[in-house]
Amino acid sequence: MNSKSQEKNIQVEDAQTGISKKFTLHQKNTKKYLRRLYFNLVICTCFMTGEIVGGIVSGSIAILTDAFHIFTDILGFLISIASLHITRKPATYKLTFGFYRAEVLGAVLSIALIWGLTAWLVSEAIVRMITPETVDGLIMLVTACGGLAGNIIMGIVLINADPEQIDDEEEDEKNGGSTSKGANEENEENGENGEKLNEDENKKKQSKSLNMRASIIHVIGDSIQSIGVIIAGGIIYSKPDYKRADPVCTLLFCIVVLGTTLPILKDCIKILMESTPPDVDISEITKSIKEIDEVMDVHDIHVWSLSSGKVSFSCHVVSNNPNFVLEKATNLLKEKFHIGHLTIQVEAGDSSIEFTCENDLH
Ligand SMILES: [Zn+2]
Ligand SMILES: [Zn+2]
Repeated sequence: MNSKSQEKNIQVEDAQTGISKKFTLHQKNTKKYLRRLYFNLVICTCFMTGEIVGGIVSGSIAILTDAFHIFTDILGFLISIASLHITRKPATYKLTFGFYRAEVLGAVLSIALIWGLTAWLVSEAIVRMITPETVDGLIMLVTACGGLAGNIIMGIVLINADPEQIDDEEEDEKNGGSTSKGANEENEENGENGEKLNEDENKKKQSKSLNMRASIIHVIGDSIQSIGVIIAGGIIYSKPDYKRADPVCTLLFCIVVLGTTLPILKDCIKILMESTPPDVDISEITKSIKEIDEVMDVHDIHVWSLSSGKVSFSCHVVSNNPNFVLEKATNLLKEKFHIGHLTIQVEAGDSSIEFTCENDLH
């Protein structure tokens, strides 16, 4: 009993040092990404001011709502920056999983913000469809071209800030030097090295992080909107009677926004519902564990993501050779299934040992 509680304490400490090490490794990448986010904040503020002026002068709802949209973008960037800062914090005894979920919460908040604005845009556009207002096509055209230029600049900056790409670059640097390898050898005994390797593999396999994907899809959506406004401006410029092109453009844009944000929201909900990550085959894992010698049964399997690409695993294994089975199952999950964070409870299959596996939840 005593040795078991001691083991628990050591595990918490290990998890903590692991996280703080990861923190220093990724500090550089995050700083680069943050710098670009701040850069985008400045660009957004400039273009928002320009569009507010252009929108008021031309009388175009499409341009004005685009300016409002940029304002919510600024709020979105602020959420991204805040969640990046929070994710970098090491785990604590009260928050043993660290702050990784903050990224998911940030993504959900951004989408809520965008959808709120979209609802407002739809109602405004409907009013303008019923009673069209005069719009200056030329100013609308010029302002929209400026907006498109701003989106292209932000898109280029964001794609270059892809954290995965930076990770690969740094990995290549590391493989070139042999000194870091030697430093890691000391940790081999407690499995640190293996865990790190698996995490790296995991990272390579995983798709871009939720916020990264959200930002890129967002910039693409914004560019489509700008092109739409340019077309509407062109129509109104050549045929001033076609005033409804202005709100029509806004309505079309709202459909695009719903289409682009829905998949991201779905991914967020899946993580919040603790669903099995899409690239994990739970029946294959069960089969592989059952195939280990001396494993009598496997039950209570859980696989979930803390954040995108951060997979956690827990299960109960019935066996009369606990140390052997624990080692085999741990190696199997780390090497074959690339799961870095796992908990395995080994239960005795011998009926003479008094232990009943009960579960509150299911
Ligand atoms: Zn935007
Ligand atoms: Zn059990």
